[in-house]
Amino acid sequence: MNLQDKVAVITGAASGIGKHIAKVYFDSGARIVIADLDLKAAETAARELDPSGERSMAVAMNVTSEEEVEAGIAAVAARFGGIDVLVSNAGIQIVAPLESFAFADWKKMLAIHLDGAFLTTRACLKVMYAQGRGGSVIYMGSVHSKEASPLKSAYVTAKHGLIGLCKVVAKEGAAHGVRANVICPGFVRTPLVEKQIPEQAKALGMSEADVVKNVMLKETVDGEFTTVDDVAQTALFLAAFPSNALTGQSIVVSHGWFMQ
Ligand code: NAD
Repeated sequence: MNLQDKVAVITGAASGIGKHIAKVYFDSGARIVIADLDLKAAETAARELDPSGERSMAVAMNVTSEEEVEAGIAAVAARFGGIDVLVSNAGIQIVAPLESFAFADWKKMLAIHLDGAFLTTRACLKVMYAQGRGGSVIYMGSVHSKEASPLKSAYVTAKHGLIGLCKVVAKEGAAHGVRANVICPGFVRTPLVEKQIPEQAKALGMSEADVVKNVMLKETVDGEFTTVDDVAQTALFLAAFPSNALTGQSIVVSHGWFMQ
């Protein structure tokens, strides 16, 4: 599997899972675009991977902003002459019980996860359809695209929603050779999860060690975290897959936490 000369836009790629996907794609020959809210971190990540800057680009992009997404994707298409892969990955987590979940937090969560996926998809599809060489759209879902946990109402709602969007993109995109799939990781130790451990410990009245062992990893087959590389290798497989046979799917990578 390689992505020689393909152009891949990865949102939220200044950190965590997205950053490692950018590395794996870069190592497989792709030109990579690190699109992130945090431009400084995006530039640092791009420079680390590709000091010459020949096969990389950092773009300031708040995925909830129609203007920033449109401008960012136009800049990518102008610089690299097309887009072959979109990984819609940017995301955050806010945990709270439903009865006290702030409406502003609910809207922020749905905006980043769902508006962000819609806006980046729409902008990239226009480029993919016009260039006529197909493409692959990958959404970063979660086991929470299939399963629920307490305290995560907005996250679970948004991550389930991505599966619906993916299936529509698969149906509409097929005529243009554009595939769409969702990756559903279990817990991965990124800054997003590090922040959650003490928050969940407080909300659930247990120790941080208990949160890891008895909440996050309890249902896995081996008590192990999923790694950024586990997710990135799946993202490579989906990006490089050669036909419409693999589209509209959601693939769970979670040490057996969720089995479908
Ligand atoms: P992370 O916090 O390490 O990285 C998230 C990145 O997204 C950051 O660089 C941040 O600046 C960026 N970002 C946040 N809001 C943005 C916005 N509005 N516009 C553009 N960029 C924005 O988190 P991560 O764990 O790597 O998470 C990446 C994705 O993976 C998220 O969608 C998350 O829900 C999903 N996911 C994570 C886990 C996990 O356990 N870490 C599990 C399943 C799914």
